[in-house]
Amino acid sequence: MINVPEMFACMVFNESEMKKRLSANIYASLKKTMVEGCPLELGVANEVANAMKDWAIEKGATHYSHWFQPLTGITAEKHDSFLTPAAEGKIIMSFSGKELIKGEPDASSFPSGGYRSTFEARGYTVWDPTSFPFVKDHTLCIPTAFCSYNGEALDKKTPLLRSMESLNRQSLRILKLFGNSAKHVTTTMGPEQEYFLVDEKLYAKRRDLKMTGRTLFGAHPVKGQEMDDQYFAAIKPRVIEYMEDLNEELWKLGIYAKTEHNEAAPAQHEMAPIFTTSNLAADQNQLTMEVMKKVARRHGLICLLHEKPFEGVNGSGKHNNWSIATDSGENLFSPGTTPMENAQFLLFLTAVIKAVDDHQDLLRAIVASAGNDHRLGANEAPPAIMSIYVGDELEAILKAIKDGKPYTGNGSKKMSIGVDVLPAIPKDSTDRNRTSPFAFTGNRFEFRSVGSNLSISGPNTILNAILADSLSKFADELEKAENFDKELQNLIKREITAHWRILFNGNGYGEEWIKEAEKRGLKNFRTTPDAMAHYLDKKNIELFKQTGIYSEVEMKSHYDVKLEKYCQILNIEVGTMIEMVNKDIEPSALNFLNKLTDTYSKMPADLPFEYGKNQIKKVSALLNELEQKKQKLDELHIQAQEKTELMEKAQDYAKKILPAMEDLRSSGDLLEELLGQEYKPYPSYEDLLFSVQ
Ligand code: ADP
Ligand code: MG
Repeated sequence: MINVPEMFACMVFNESEMKKRLSANIYASLKKTMVEGCPLELGVANEVANAMKDWAIEKGATHYSHWFQPLTGITAEKHDSFLTPAAEGKIIMSFSGKELIKGEPDASSFPSGGYRSTFEARGYTVWDPTSFPFVKDHTLCIPTAFCSYNGEALDKKTPLLRSMESLNRQSLRILKLFGNSAKHVTTTMGPEQEYFLVDEKLYAKRRDLKMTGRTLFGAHPVKGQEMDDQYFAAIKPRVIEYMEDLNEELWKLGIYAKTEHNEAAPAQHEMAPIFTTSNLAADQNQLTMEVMKKVARRHGLICLLHEKPFEGVNGSGKHNNWSIATDSGENLFSPGTTPMENAQFLLFLTAVIKAVDDHQDLLRAIVASAGNDHRLGANEAPPAIMSIYVGDELEAILKAIKDGKPYTGNGSKKMSIGVDVLPAIPKDSTDRNRTSPFAFTGNRFEFRSVGSNLSISGPNTILNAILADSLSKFADELEKAENFDKELQNLIKREITAHWRILFNGNGYGEEWIKEAEKRGLKNFRTTPDAMAHYLDKKNIELFKQTGIYSEVEMKSHYDVKLEKYCQILNIEVGTMIEMVNKDIEPSALNFLNKLTDTYSKMPADLPFEYGKNQIKKVSALLNELEQKKQKLDELHIQAQEKTELMEKAQDYAKKILPAMEDLRSSGDLLEELLGQEYKPYPSYEDLLFSVQ
């Protein structure tokens, strides 16, 4: 039996470990840095580094690494051993404060959107003491921020920290007006991580899965997810073994792995941790994704984190549960029980409503990727249109405020903000609609458009930034108010009225919603290039400048990095498809054709062998079609590659290449269906989706 409390966080240099291993005054200095963000003195850093090294060596570490999150969206690490030469050819194991605080990896090979040239390659990694060091693969990993020589953020952590700070400042301004004595607010985050598991041996035979993480061909199996027999179903033994192993690895790293279950598609599963501070949650989600893949290998499995590995069944998302808490533990998205708490809640709610409506484009852009584009709006995940679901009860309350009419639900009365208590909002009434991209779930918001593969730093940076923006505008106004209660009432009523269009409780998957949303003037960006076309709009550059989260240079780099990555992914997908046609599908089909013609030619002439003749016709016709479509795709691809303007190139991929890929796939899949079992070019969907038992 494993002892979970003993195992939990055993590989993390957390506060209890720090307390144990540092002298009281050193610990106090470090704690001050952690809470107040003041710089760590070198003397203190030296002692901390030494204690950290001793601890890490006990855990089997031989190396240390600054662990950071470049704009690639995955993590990066460069290992250095603790080894230092000593007298008489011996060595000692050492680790200095300087090495702990700052590293200088060569930054030239990380994406920066071209705003840095290789001769300015120097980048810095700086320890983020608000996230704890941990030991992984015999290496002490130190979570760090990564920036350029000029201080521009080259990573995902720095902007997230900046956004948390900005939201802290603006929230405190608002809280002060309510007489709330909070000293600090922080955002919390709980990411529900979906994934697929497939057998390693089958995976090895699929060029597309290996190269792109998703299937580019594959005839639909006779059974998909239509029986609804997978969601929450009993978990298969091989998967249970995997989940147990995964939990242990995550627990050792101090990750609160809590919920596990089968998801809607065959071979699809989910793991949800207990929420924590956004910064830590983001680091831990990166680690979770890495550990998920690593542990799968031990079980002869491959963990697929792509947003849409299989056509015809659901793709994977990462529901981003998001809230704000004060230093005394008050959840600011929780409706309170007193009139003042209620009014405060309503103001924060109004600020979120305004933020989402004003910045639909940013929320859409931040979740845009080649992979996630297959998911959003595909009747399985929220549409590409942003809207907020608040539940019928809360919507009725907001409507009463907007119309200045009595609230006719629970307890029927006219709501007077700051005077009356909100009628209790039953939690279950707020969580029924799964088709909304942004749902209020009783005490938090759930941003459901995030793809399974995405770093959650970006979405949370945007959420914090746009809320900080609304709150700062509200604070500017309310700080000047002579009659706070009255002006608060007016502001809430005015803003709810102005942003009413963003509230939608209906079916987000329906065709009618697309039409209705258009009427309301909501944005509907279907592809990554369409979404990114507005990223550099003046309003967005201003927003980030004012909140101090991104500079214009940084935003331009995001724009370039995102579009370049989009084109690169599609470039690899096209290349892989062509290889699959040339090396897998055509040779298999020719073998089959050979067998057919051989059989046909051997048939006695007086025996009408219609079946054989028809099969030969069908297979050869499809082969011709496949070859033609492949050549067409190849030509379009060459044209796209020749485009020099990034947006034009990305639009070519979205509007011309993707449809040509789909067209090619349809012929390949028809052919696959015709081929006999022993002529199959690669493991089928049936094999991939139903073989892990
Ligand atoms: P469901 O599937 O019903 O949405 P789950 O239990 O799968 O619920 O996931 C809910 C997630 O929301 C968990 O990760 C949980 O820790 C997180 N969560 C709960 N409260 C908060 C909060 N205040 N802030 C952020 N996340 C939260
Ligand atoms: Mg959820």
